[in-house]
Amino acid sequence: MSMSRKPCRLCLLQECGEQELFEVIRQRIAAMPPAQKADPELYEHRLSLCKRCEELVSGTCRKCGCYVELRAAKKGGCCPHEHKRW
Ligand code: SF4
Repeated sequence: MSMSRKPCRLCLLQECGEQELFEVIRQRIAAMPPAQKADPELYEHRLSLCKRCEELVSGTCRKCGCYVELRAAKKGGCCPHEHKRW
């Protein structure tokens, strides 16, 4: 992530101009064993909840420091928020 760029609140990496970083994340998701991957509907549902969360800044969750697009892709992934948003 560029340090000179203003943080993008409520944006995923793929939406905030971090295409190179998103490509790395996309490749890591693609390399996950299928049994460890959330199904596409669950992945999109999780991201839709992150996009409404005040903890999302430039694709990163402020609760845990993870890139949400990677965290949401893991079948056993969970939201670290005290209200467990997903
Ligand atoms: S707290 Fe949960 S819903 Fe909010 S950005 Fe982090 S993972 Fe997403």
